Formats: sequence, structure tokens, C-alpha cells
Amino acid sequence: KAVQGEAEFLFYSEEMNQRAKEHLRIESELRSALHNNELLLYYQPKVSLRSGRIVGAEALLRWKHPVRGMVSPGVFIPVAEETGLILELGNWVLEEACRQVRAWQDENLIMTPIAVNLSARQFDARLPERMADVMQRHGVLPEQLMLEITESLLVGGADNVISIMNELVAMGLALALDDFGTGYSSLAYLKKFPISTLKIDRSFVIGLPYEENDCAIARAIVTMAQQLRQEIVAEGVETAEQMSFLRELGCDQLQGYFFSPPVPPDDFAHMLREGKRL
Ligand code: C2E
Ligand code: CA
Ligand code: CA
Ligand code: CA
Repeated sequence: KAVQGEAEFLFYSEEMNQRAKEHLRIESELRSALHNNELLLYYQPKVSLRSGRIVGAEALLRWKHPVRGMVSPGVFIPVAEETGLILELGNWVLEEACRQVRAWQDENLIMTPIAVNLSARQFDARLPERMADVMQRHGVLPEQLMLEITESLLVGGADNVISIMNELVAMGLALALDDFGTGYSSLAYLKKFPISTLKIDRSFVIGLPYEENDCAIARAIVTMAQQLRQEIVAEGVETAEQMSFLRELGCDQLQGYFFSPPVPPDDFAHMLREGKRL
């Protein structure tokens, strides 16, 4: 027994060692990625279920690694969060999104808000000032942006989170709550926060319309969001059946492979020009 335990211990520590090394590698490569133009933003359209038109997009970070090819944010965002590198990364994203919005506006293309994901670590007292600064430098209006935040930010719930949110909203920026339903916040709780949009997490969309539990959850979220007068976006919509179900529920927008995956900026601009519809 004792010997076996020891072997297990060795095994685990070797695995942890590997993971730590991998972590360090990603961290140092990510640092250089920031300075070597290896990062880019893809855009995934959000489509109105009423009009069938593109009414916005979410900017999603991509890392084009010189050797490994496209690295998924699922791999490097958690490392960036842990090391604090997410602050630099987040600033790069804001800068790039504003630059792009401005470039599209100059081509008379943009009318939709572009949503940017914010890590909880970016949510400090200086955020409103940083937002004002980046928007001003690029000549971008607050209506042209949207900020996606996650429930962990609300649940951690310091008072200053609400006041920072209020400041952002007073500046004209809209806040969307991402991955809704996966965290611990209830809708009653939500009333406290100045959030204009809820995004139903993909994990509840997957089972629609066949899984009874997912249907019940989606229905409950939509019903309550309507009471709170929040816009509701379903993410990860992949099938026509999911779309129909969500439309009947009264969901406002959908986002997902059914309409389009996240695409490079030129492809998104192309969809806008063509007036691609659902
Ligand atoms: P998220 O914010 O929930 O973004 C949605 C994710 O679902 C994206 O993955 C998107 O490509 C994927 N997705 C969209 N439609 C479908 C669909 O129909 N089916 C399936 N299976 N997946 C779909 P992605 O781009 O890999 O991003 C993963 C996560 O990384 C994001 O989840 C977000 O939490 C984080 N992330 C991405 N970009 C940023 C960023 O700029 N800043 C921060 N802080 N986090 C980011
Ligand atoms: Ca998001
Ligand atoms: Ca999401
Ligand atoms: Ca999600």
C-alpha cells in the first residue's frame, strides 16, 4: 500500500511538474505574442430573431502562434488570468476593438455594437477612465461598444463593483452578463446591477428543444429577463430547432455556428456589406 501511494505521489507530482512547465511556456510566449503582432480579434455576429439581421458582434481573442498555429483562448486566457497578464491582454483587446470599430465607421459600415469580453481582474476603479481614454483616442462612441462580464464578478460582489458599473453605464456603455446560469447569481440578485443584456450560456442551449431541463431553464431565464426588461441573447445556437424554440420563447438575439462562427474582421465586414440574414 505504502509503496503504491508513493508511486501515485510521484506520478502526480510529475504531472503537476509538466503542467507548471506548460504554464510557464505559455506565459512567456504570450508575453512575446503581445509584442509580435500574433494576437488578433475575430468577430461573431449577433443576429436579431425579429428582423433576421446582424445587430452586433462579439470580439473574440485569437492567438496565431508561429509554430503551433491558432491557439484557443480556452488555453491561454486561464494562464493570462492567473499570471495577471490578462490586464495587458485586456488593454490590447480594447485598443484593437476600438481601432477596428473606428476603421469600419470610416467605411460607413458599422452600426452595431461590438462586445468585448472583460476579465474580472480588469474591473477596477480605473476601468471607467481607461474606457473613456481608449474611446476618445479612437473617436469611438459608447453606443458602439458593449462590455461582457461574468457572474463571478457579481457574486464576489464588493460595493465598488456596482459603483464602477454605474459609472460605465453613466458614460453610455452597456453591460452584458455572459454565460448566464452557470454561476451563482439569481435573477432577484441581478436587479441590483445595471445590466442591460443577459447571455444564456451555451450549456443550456445545447439540449434545446429535446432536453426538458434545458427547456425549463431557458424558459425561466427568458421570462425573468423580460420582467427585468433586459435583452436576452442565446449563445452557441447551432441548429434550426434551437433557433425556433428560442424565437418562440421570446429571446431577442442569437449567436452561434448556426448563423456564423467567429470570423476574421474582413469576413465580418463582408457579411455586413452583403446584409447577410438569418
Ligand atoms: P465566451 O465569451 O462564452 O465566448 C463564446 C465562445 O463560444 C467562443 O469560444 C465562441 O467561438 C464559441 N462559440 C460560439 N458559437 C458557438 C457554437 O455555436 N457552438 C460552439 N460549440 N461554440 C460556439 P472562444 O472564441 O474559443 O472563446 C472562449 C472563451 O475565451 C470565451 O467564452 C471567453 O470567456 C474567453 N475569451 C475570448 N476572448 C476573450 C477576450 O478578449 N478577453 C477575455 N477576458 N476573455 C476572452
Ligand atoms: Ca463572451
Ligand atoms: Ca458566453
Ligand atoms: Ca459560454
